[in-house]
Amino acid sequence: LMANITTNIEPLMQMLVDPNERESYAWIRMRIRRIWDRWTKAVNSLAAKQDLSGRRQKKILVHLGLLSQQSGWKFAENQFKGGPLGELVQWSDLITTLYILGHKLTITSEVDQLKNILSKLPAANSPCQSRKELPVHIIYTDIVGLRQFKKFVKEGYGKFSCLLRIVDTFGTEPAFNHQQFAKKRKKSSSWGGQNLQPQQFFNMFPHSPDNSFMGFVVEQHLNDSLVNEIPRENQALVYGKNEYMWQAKTQYLDIINKSLEVHATVYMDERSDKETNTASTIIPSYVINHGFLNGEDLHTLLRQSKVFVGLGFPYEGPAPLEAIANGAVFLNPKFNPPHNRNNNAFFKGKPTEREVTSQHPYAEQFIGEPYVYTIDIGNEEQVRSTVQKILDLDTFQAYMPYEFTEEGMIQRMNSYIEHQNFCQFQRQPSKWPPEKAITLLFGEPNKSCKDVCWEKNFICEPSHFLRTNSMEALKQHGAPCSTEKVALDIFYPALDTRTNDCILQQDELLFSCVGKQENLRRLCPCRNYIKGQIALCQGCE
Ligand code: UDP
Repeated sequence: LMANITTNIEPLMQMLVDPNERESYAWIRMRIRRIWDRWTKAVNSLAAKQDLSGRRQKKILVHLGLLSQQSGWKFAENQFKGGPLGELVQWSDLITTLYILGHKLTITSEVDQLKNILSKLPAANSPCQSRKELPVHIIYTDIVGLRQFKKFVKEGYGKFSCLLRIVDTFGTEPAFNHQQFAKKRKKSSSWGGQNLQPQQFFNMFPHSPDNSFMGFVVEQHLNDSLVNEIPRENQALVYGKNEYMWQAKTQYLDIINKSLEVHATVYMDERSDKETNTASTIIPSYVINHGFLNGEDLHTLLRQSKVFVGLGFPYEGPAPLEAIANGAVFLNPKFNPPHNRNNNAFFKGKPTEREVTSQHPYAEQFIGEPYVYTIDIGNEEQVRSTVQKILDLDTFQAYMPYEFTEEGMIQRMNSYIEHQNFCQFQRQPSKWPPEKAITLLFGEPNKSCKDVCWEKNFICEPSHFLRTNSMEALKQHGAPCSTEKVALDIFYPALDTRTNDCILQQDELLFSCVGKQENLRRLCPCRNYIKGQIALCQGCE
């Protein structure tokens, strides 16, 4: 069966019927409907640029563990009450992408539903059951869902594990993913230790090249003539939908309030409703709070605003990209020192050593001025002069990276679906991305491959590590190898500059873009990329 582009929304809506009274899919349905027209235009526009015909239809199971009652997270309960939405944004967009590309979906979010489906699978130990006959080709879930999944497939898990794609916002580094290694190095975390291939983790932003960048779509529904009729006012909108995010930010906001009218969309519970700030001791009384808004109203407000004001939390949400796409300048709080799992409660249990340098590292590193100013919000003079710089701008231009458009997301996910294969025998070098997109680089001591590649305008490409893991490869790139060794750690293959030992990687699961150590020069697989579509190499769509 072939996958045909599907632009009729109704069958999808019928798939998203809530399994219980919790109305788990209500927000997701709303989002999908609201931007559906843009999705259909995008897929047609992509089809005009690249051949989307002749693709095999894949059977895809999507299991949203985060929505399950069992998770205890109350995502469903809080979807209209200021609860976290970034994840729901991502799931909405993933589901839409898969559906519109014409794949055959099964969507579940409760354990009973999953059980029901898995009970129909052929027994794991049936003799002639090869992977080709498995009833699904791909499974998208999250860590909570993965745990539920493992519980029910039991012995069958080994066979299914290569079909998994784990939606994982903040990323999982190889050192944390490898269960034994993590345990030995005291890097165990409740999220890590899954022993999947690191690229089976799908992130919200392109922050961890060891994983795959899935992303989401930045909403832009005011794209018509309407937009130009909304004049930009001397307004700032604060990014902070819960009161607690405003704690200890008054000085910073006072400076902004000197030149801009400060607006907000803080969710207040039923009691205080819209008069909010009079009821709040944390939110300054001059703030005009609109309460939590629906998408369209929020975007209108963004259009009227000159500045979108970050408070430092939440990390890496979709909202700053929406603001920038609507022409508001994002004030991005800089973290010095950067937040990480050793100094910050939020990142404490996360399976990554990543150094988070600001509230929104993507906005900082990939967008920058004049759309984004990353500043120390405790430095009054810097805040004042930055606000002045923004007010001096004569136009407020919108900016939208291609990778966050509907078309960009469809293109990227389609490439993953067509080319990624985690079931193939591991000792085979990867065919995608193709070899011609890869350059092997021999790094300086104490540099990670992520940095070695990035400095030469490449991305570390973990699927090609195998090609670096030999004495010949190391020698060819200038390593004066005296002896050959193998070891098990995230730095290898590498040259030890003190001993001239060439050390190869013993366990492929530990190939890592981020590993670095003094005296070690790493040999790195780097790939080129499309600007604005960093997940793909040039000509690799
Ligand atoms: N949002 C909304 N109404 C509001 C404030 C935010 O609909 O009053 C939406 C916003 O447009 C974005 C989503 O909530 O798409 C998630 O926003 P955020 O960046 O805060 O991420 P989170 O922390 O929820 O993951």
